[in-house]
Amino acid sequence: MSARPEKSAWSRLRRTLRTRTTGSVTRLPRVHRQSAMHKEAAERARALAHARLEHFNRFYGFTYERVFIRSQKTRWGACSAKGNLGFNFRIAYLPAYLADYVIVHELCHLEQFNHPPAFWELVARTIPDHKARRTELRRRYRF
Ligand SMILES: [Zn+2]
Repeated sequence: MSARPEKSAWSRLRRTLRTRTTGSVTRLPRVHRQSAMHKEAAERARALAHARLEHFNRFYGFTYERVFIRSQKTRWGACSAKGNLGFNFRIAYLPAYLADYVIVHELCHLEQFNHPPAFWELVARTIPDHKARRTELRRRYRF
């Protein structure tokens, strides 16, 4: 299959997303797990996660194992004690600065497993306005 049909599936999906934005809240589209759109979004999320992890980890220099893309309805990301990172496929729909916040948050959990002040200091080294981004993510984007 050429790139063109996939591209148009993506713009259809983006249109769906736009129509679901009411007021200040964006409800992320429900995408059936077996659908081509899910596959497309998951691939975009995977490429985004790898590219941005590589970018921010030039600064942090942490070690991570595998990167998983998931479809949970409750979390944006996860970091396991084994050093695996997981991201919700819906990061593909976020504005880049919010996806970056999610990615850096999980990356910093490799060093600090919980959320003590030291964790937020670590996040702030690359995302000084992390509080504002976190607030926007919570207020504006619903699964
Ligand atoms: Zn956390």
